[in-house]
Parts: sequence; C-alpha cells; structure tokens
Amino acid sequence: MTGLTDVHVHLAALPTKSNGCLVSKKTLNGPLGRFIAWKLGLPVDKPEEANRIYLDKLDAELGRSTFVTKSVLLGMDGVYDSGGRLDEARTHFLMSNDAVLQAVKTRPRLLAGVSINPARRDALDELERCAEAGAALVKVLPNAQVFDPADKRFVPFYRALAKHKIPLLSHTGYEFSLMGQDQSVGDPARLVVPLEEGATVIAAHACSYGIYLYEPFFPTFLHLVEKYKNFYVDASALTLPNRAGAMLKIRKHPELFERILFGTDYPLPVFSFPCLGIAAVGSWLRARSADNRFDRQWRVLEAMGIPVLQDLSKVSPRLAGNQ
Ligand SMILES: [Zn+2]
Repeated sequence: MTGLTDVHVHLAALPTKSNGCLVSKKTLNGPLGRFIAWKLGLPVDKPEEANRIYLDKLDAELGRSTFVTKSVLLGMDGVYDSGGRLDEARTHFLMSNDAVLQAVKTRPRLLAGVSINPARRDALDELERCAEAGAALVKVLPNAQVFDPADKRFVPFYRALAKHKIPLLSHTGYEFSLMGQDQSVGDPARLVVPLEEGATVIAAHACSYGIYLYEPFFPTFLHLVEKYKNFYVDASALTLPNRAGAMLKIRKHPELFERILFGTDYPLPVFSFPCLGIAAVGSWLRARSADNRFDRQWRVLEAMGIPVLQDLSKVSPRLAGNQ
C-alpha cells in the first residue's frame, strides 16, 4: 500500500501580530479550546511558541504513522456580513490561509487546505491566490461560517473551483465543537449546487449527523454517490461516539467505499471502541494499541470492513500531490 493522505487535519493557532488568526475568548476558554491546550501542553501565553509546538507535534505524530504519509492542514474562514466583509463580532475562530500556507511551506508531509467563505466579497481573488500558492482543497463549515452552500450567488466560485480542480471539503451534520448557528446548512443535499457546476465535493464526516444512531442524511449520501461522479466523503471523526453509528451503515454498502477518503479530524481524539463486538478482538487490540491517531483511525476502519480510496488522483491532481 502506498501512503494514505489524511484530508481532514485542523490547524489550531493562537493569534500573533502577523498570522491573521482570530480566536474569541469564548472559544479559547471554552471546553474544546481548554482541552486542546491541556492535551498538547501548549503555553497559551506564548502564542508563537504554542503555534510551533502544535505543528511540530502534529508533524511528529504523522511521522510515526505506518499507513498515512500526508495530511491536509485545514484553515477556517470567518463569518461575513451581507456586504461580504468579515464580521469579527460573530467570528469565534479564524485560522487564516496565510497561516496554513506558511505552515506547509517547511513541512513536506502537510498539504494546504485553505478555507474561503464564498460569501466574502473577495472570494474569487482569494481562490486565485490560494490556487497559485498550491492549495490542495478548500474547506468550508457552513454552520459556523453562516452561509448556505446552495445559494446560487456562489455559482461563479464553484465554477472557479472546478476550473482549478480544487475540491470543496464541506462539513456536514450538526456542529458541536464550534458555535453552530443555522444547523440546517449542514445538510449534504445543499451541495448539489457545487456538484452541478462540476466542482469536486467532499462531504466531511461521511454525511453523518453527529447524533448517535440518528442518521437522517444517509439516503442523501447514497443518492449523491449514485448521481454524481464528483461526489466524495471523508471518514473523519467517525470513531467519535456521536458519529460512530454511521460506520455501521456504511459497512453494509460496498458501493460507497471508492468514494470514501481517509481522514481523522485531528486534533480530536480517535477511539477504538466502535469495532468492539463487530471485529475480532485482535483487530480491536491492534487499533487500541496504535501509538498515533492516524494509524488508529485506519485500524478501526479496517476492522469495521470499510476500505478507503487510496488513489487520490481520481479526486484531484492537487490532492494526489501531482498538480
Ligand atoms: Zn473537522
């Protein structure tokens, strides 16, 4: 097996004078912010140092992986007002594209997953700039970024993505970890507009809803796979208790396997328990004993009988690293 690429790894950076990132006090002092800082031992009063430690730890953990050789590092754009200007008051967490592009420059294992809210007025220019800089994909989180992917105003943006062969990775389902606003925009059916415009779309978390054993989007997942050759999903976060139920459904549908890309949702934890009672005890033990989240995620998927697509050149030359 050649090395896998994890298409869903988050950048977490504290704002510095020059990195263009924003983190609200509410997010920094909230449960997720505190968990990440504590878990990784980050000195939150020294942003530059904390940011370097975060990336070094990620790079080292990836280096320990047997199965995964590359990761797409994801930015996170903010909320924009009706005039397309950044709405700082409603933006709780912004990981800038410059911070992403800078981080991947000196770390060959990382690819740039920039984030562009299509509602920003310079969305097309920013896309051109990031395409030029080698972006592997564009990540969006409509629930937190407060836009509707089905809005026809974004058609030119989707056409530009298609032209540059840059996939759109869009969060689907309920969003707990960030302050979700309009949760209905996490419905994968809203992704038909970019799909119709020829953009390659990757629905994050395999269209799972995020509430255990309640999977209202699964029929949409099956339908989109059947109708659109340019539709994919990622397997990120599927070992979390609130999304693990999706794997029980997916494993019964082999026609989905070649549309599933590998992903973890790093730095979120990866659990081995979902394969208990489904796979042999040995498979569960192998997953549990993995010393890095990338291999554990791979082992759990393997134990659940869910192979992922390995040749990413089918998805995008940019993701396969040969643009
Ligand atoms: Zn994520």
